[in-house]
Amino acid sequence: MTRKFIVGGNFKMNGSVSSLNTLIEGLNQGDLDSNVEIVVSPPFVYLDQVRKSVRKDIAVAGQNCYHKTSGAYTGEVAPEMLKDLGIEWVILGHSERREIFKESDDEIGAKVAHALKTGLKVMACVGESLEEREANKTTEVVFRQLAAIAKQINDWSDVVVAYEPVWAIGTGKVATPDQAQEVHKAIREWLSTNVSAETAAATRIMYGGSVNAGNASTLAKEEDVDGFLVGGASLKPEFVTICNAKA
Ligand code: PGA
Repeated sequence: MTRKFIVGGNFKMNGSVSSLNTLIEGLNQGDLDSNVEIVVSPPFVYLDQVRKSVRKDIAVAGQNCYHKTSGAYTGEVAPEMLKDLGIEWVILGHSERREIFKESDDEIGAKVAHALKTGLKVMACVGESLEEREANKTTEVVFRQLAAIAKQINDWSDVVVAYEPVWAIGTGKVATPDQAQEVHKAIREWLSTNVSAETAAATRIMYGGSVNAGNASTLAKEEDVDGFLVGGASLKPEFVTICNAKA
């Protein structure tokens, strides 16, 4: 089973009209490995600008969406609206959404289900905190987060799982290749047991957390690392190097 390597750039709440123009121009001119699927995710207000200016072999993702189609939900964005704008992907369940905005496992499951129903592809994020890792609860936490998604969907073909240990996000403290591989393998086994062997073999599992141009190629060698979700480094020219890490 070959799984196409996928690299996402999560810009988080960063950028401006002019800085994103510069960033996208750099990507458009980058010498990118055509065997890698690349997705960039700017803040909502810049989605249309980025989608219109980015080269056609790079897809665009929202960083969140709600689990309703329309209505009195001030401040929220429906997956249908992302589709309407020509956006193909959405990141859901990012640890910043879980922690800062108190999104529950069940709410994230509902968001994944609704986004898939709308026809979006989903990067579903899971990952443990430092406290949970130190208490040997890494797989327990990750499996609980996966189960909340599995409860609400049957078809995983448009889902990519992003394993992002919270202690590695934005800290400069990247997981070692062994640490990443161990959890990715556990996630694949969980999918095999709880969804199907086919889903486990086909589902891509990205690693996220302090990925940079220096550590990407070593991580990319691990058998169950099928891509990266990149935060800070996706705002820098080194993102091109990360996208080419598998080459
Ligand atoms: P980072 O963020 O690369 O800045 O650690 C990763 C993420 O939050 O997706």
